[in-house]
Amino acid sequence: MSEERTKAADEMFCPSCGEVIKKEASICIKCGVAVSNKKPAGLNVSEKSRLTAFLLCFFVGVFGSHRFYVGKIGTGVFQLLTLGGLGIWTLVDLILILTGSFTDVTNKKLSEWDTSYR
Ligand SMILES: [Zn+2]
Repeated sequence: MSEERTKAADEMFCPSCGEVIKKEASICIKCGVAVSNKKPAGLNVSEKSRLTAFLLCFFVGVFGSHRFYVGKIGTGVFQLLTLGGLGIWTLVDLILILTGSFTDVTNKKLSEWDTSYR
């Protein structure tokens, strides 16, 4: 009970139980809850959902919908006008999304399938 709740520079509080954990930790060692973090490792990770982009690309990709979704308006319009490069461009995008290589307008990769916890 007398334990001080202080944290070092490389530590943070677990959002679930409040335990002090390492910032690099992806899971809290105390409560086992996955810790959402937007630092270092996540710097190049888009906050856009890969799943949403995939679904948009899969169903209405020829209209450039997935590109509008990630903020790539310019190429989105172009894709819309060319019907996704007659489907080929859309197919390439679909593969990029599936492999996690698709990027948003800020050049961050859409590597998270589920971003709802952010
Ligand atoms: Zn915890």
